[in-house]
Amino acid sequence: MKALVYHGPGRRSWQDVPDPVIEQPTDVIVRVDAVTICGTDLHILKGDVPEVEPGRILGHEAVGTVTAAGAAVRTVAPGDRVLVSCISACGTCRYCRDGSYGQCLGGGGWVLGHLIDGTQAEYVRVPFADNSTHRIPDGVTDEQMVMLADILPTSYEVGVLAGAVAPGDVVAIVGAGPIGLAAILTAKLFSPSHVVAIDVADSRLEAARKFGADIVVNSSREDPRAVVDAVSGDLGADVAMEAVGLPETFEQAVCLVRPGGRVPNIGVHGAPATLHLEQIWIKNLTITTGLVDTHSTPTLVRLVGNEQIDTTPMITHRFTMDEFERAYDVFGRAGETGALKVLLTPSTSRSSREGTRT
Ligand SMILES: [Zn+2]
Ligand SMILES: [Zn+2]
Repeated sequence: MKALVYHGPGRRSWQDVPDPVIEQPTDVIVRVDAVTICGTDLHILKGDVPEVEPGRILGHEAVGTVTAAGAAVRTVAPGDRVLVSCISACGTCRYCRDGSYGQCLGGGGWVLGHLIDGTQAEYVRVPFADNSTHRIPDGVTDEQMVMLADILPTSYEVGVLAGAVAPGDVVAIVGAGPIGLAAILTAKLFSPSHVVAIDVADSRLEAARKFGADIVVNSSREDPRAVVDAVSGDLGADVAMEAVGLPETFEQAVCLVRPGGRVPNIGVHGAPATLHLEQIWIKNLTITTGLVDTHSTPTLVRLVGNEQIDTTPMITHRFTMDEFERAYDVFGRAGETGALKVLLTPSTSRSSREGTRT
């Protein structure tokens, strides 16, 4: 089969690799029907995630069709359409028993496209299939579902739920990339009074409006604190989320929150940020961080199935898998290309393994 292989910092190629096979009785093999690229994949390609070894197939977000299932798999079978979660879960370790699958100690957690071969391929082996895949309801498209592999549960759990967004809240979201947009979409489920989206790119702020932001602020031209003050009686935001992953955007989120408010950090950080404890010790703030657990994925699948949320406007570019290298270029230059999420589907020349259900 073909797959997108990491060859060390700055080097990747769409190339021939051996087909994956069932290694454990809890594995399934999934034929990938739709796959996307994550900002985390760009971090890996920069060399920021040294645990990823050269030769690794990248990717941790996909939907597909089960083609083979190990003897111990009970809940999915060949022919089933499934969402492949970015988080795998052994289901039995201390963290899994607690629903904290992201911290799995039994060989799960974020492993796909990180510690084992990932989803940017024609086929992928998914470990602990009963706990790591979700069946796709009839009538729900691959495009709708693929956003639930990572960005929707990440924004919902690490941003909206950790920030305890409540009816009537003023919610400030720093960063209107895919994660910030998904945070807007899922914060709206709780009827906040105002969602204020903050970014430096007008194209992203336009997208934020489409996803339901009530107010957008270009922080290169306007002071976000003044805008938040105007809708919060000068108190500050009830919840100020960080959805970028830079020191300055984290510090900005802390500046925007009211005393007693919450600052959930969703961004992936690569450098230290300054926490002004000398200013905030008196403010009763709750600051949270986290890796997604995907415990909310079944809820999100129902919300999409019931058309309560629509994730498809997130997809700005579509490619076939033989254009994978071009898709990376377009996604990697999001500032110029306006890319939010790129979607890849199989090329017609895909090597066929239909019917080889073992
Ligand atoms: Zn991701
Ligand atoms: Zn576990």
